[in-house]
Amino acid sequence: MERTYFNEKLKNIIKKNLFRSLKDRDSSQGRKIKINGKFYINFSSNDYLGLCNNPFVKKAALKALQEYGLGAGASRLLSGGTELHKKLEKLLAYFKDVEETLLFNSGYTANLGVIPALVDKNTVIFSDELNHASIIDGCRLSKAEVIMYPHKNLDILKKMIKRRKKGRFIIVTDSVFSMDGDIAPIKEIIEITKENDGYLYIDDAHATGVLGEGKGVLHHFGIKPESYILQMSTLSKAIGCMGAFIGGSKVVIQWLINSARTLIFSTTLPACVVAASIEAVKIIMKDKKLLKKLWHNRNNFYNGITYMELNTGHSETPIIPIILKSNEDVLRLSAFLMENSIYVPPIRKPAVSQPRLRITITASHTEEDINKLIQVLKKAKDKKLC
Ligand code: PMP
Repeated sequence: MERTYFNEKLKNIIKKNLFRSLKDRDSSQGRKIKINGKFYINFSSNDYLGLCNNPFVKKAALKALQEYGLGAGASRLLSGGTELHKKLEKLLAYFKDVEETLLFNSGYTANLGVIPALVDKNTVIFSDELNHASIIDGCRLSKAEVIMYPHKNLDILKKMIKRRKKGRFIIVTDSVFSMDGDIAPIKEIIEITKENDGYLYIDDAHATGVLGEGKGVLHHFGIKPESYILQMSTLSKAIGCMGAFIGGSKVVIQWLINSARTLIFSTTLPACVVAASIEAVKIIMKDKKLLKKLWHNRNNFYNGITYMELNTGHSETPIIPIILKSNEDVLRLSAFLMENSIYVPPIRKPAVSQPRLRITITASHTEEDINKLIQVLKKAKDKKLC
């Protein structure tokens, strides 16, 4: 009975070209990865600065592993935390120029725990329609009324805010949209928040380590963090480790320690991951060459494909989608790239409404890697695969 139930479900997604399978690596994360014994140039990771495999980051993790062991053994409110957790939070507060920060186990669980903790049934959440799934799920778990606004459409957002029935409201937005690589108009969103006495929650996952000298979207736009802004950033992308942190005012952080369920009821990050993150953040603060290389690579690739007139949406960052018409098309293009030793898996529903390849450029890529990707895309274009 159960077998039939799930077999039917699987058959249904296979029919729609929506079946997924896990493609695990036989190598470390990096510009080249090995899958099923074959090496590919990897354009699918969020390790923007190549810190996943940085020797200093690994050394810091090993040292903490020797000292503190592996698992944290408990939630932070019990005995899970260490001095390293505090040290990382202090460093991140300095890095992001916020009063305090608070660690979470992942970006997903940060959004899942924090958003419900910020609101109640008398709050309205205005959420950009292209926000990450973890924001959508965080909103769903909350008791607030949730209203989606069309992607970056601030005229409609303003009207929605004026028309709201409940007094308190919060705007929730990605800073860099994870599947499109465009940037939210944060300056204008902050104006709207301020004018209407609201609260703003920014998911800075893909801007941290990438925009504003690595400090994220506020620094990118020359904006100072204010008490009505709360930021979520991940340690899992440009920082090359695992986990996330919330940055904002002391009072909100204290409230989250007392209310965010994914913090209270989950074992905290292992000290070795925390130590690695400290090292990675220090590298980002010190070594501006990595960021320069990331943007050099990104611009080389973007400029190199402009003449092909591919549908890259409105990308402004190292996330560059190639948007196609059907699931079949993206599966075909992804397979063609793999035949040419390039790894970019297809992205389909429910992650996006329009199927695409999501190319991510990193600082680790070489000129040859970028040129090869451009050439293979040109071949694909000639074969009418994109
Ligand atoms: N927010 C955004 C915008 C993301 O792209 C992601 C990861 N894809 C997350 C949150 C979740 O972060 P993590 O992978 O650390 O759970």
